[in-house]
Amino acid sequence: MDEKLAERVRQRADHACEYCHMPQAYYPTVPFPIDHIIAQQHGGATVFANLALSCLHDNCHKGPNIAGLDPARRKLTRLFNPRRHKWRHHFRRDGPFLVGKTAIGRVTVGVPAMNDSAVMEVREALIDEGLFPPVADTT
Ligand SMILES: [Zn+2]
Repeated sequence: MDEKLAERVRQRADHACEYCHMPQAYYPTVPFPIDHIIAQQHGGATVFANLALSCLHDNCHKGPNIAGLDPARRKLTRLFNPRRHKWRHHFRRDGPFLVGKTAIGRVTVGVPAMNDSAVMEVREALIDEGLFPPVADTT
């Protein structure tokens, strides 16, 4: 990917994961990948409008998925799209837990395993240090 395009994506995201809002600054040794919101294998293009900054955890677990089954209603539901959806409409926090408020939110918490134990430990440590949740939760 063109580095200028990647840097524009990082700046638009204010250097935080656009799914869980984890700041890149807390993972200084591992650059966050640039996610294709609609994966390339589904026809998603490498263009600014289809890219999002994602933490390594969310990017690895999301993979090429673009949808999942809503655990509450068992209906096929698309994943959160940072370019089209408002984060606070679909998610809220309960301490270190990320909670889906809508079907899109529930699916997006579930498919990328956003509440698995390793991530929760990091969030709990950051909460204890007063560094989390980030300001991005309100946008
Ligand atoms: Zn993330």
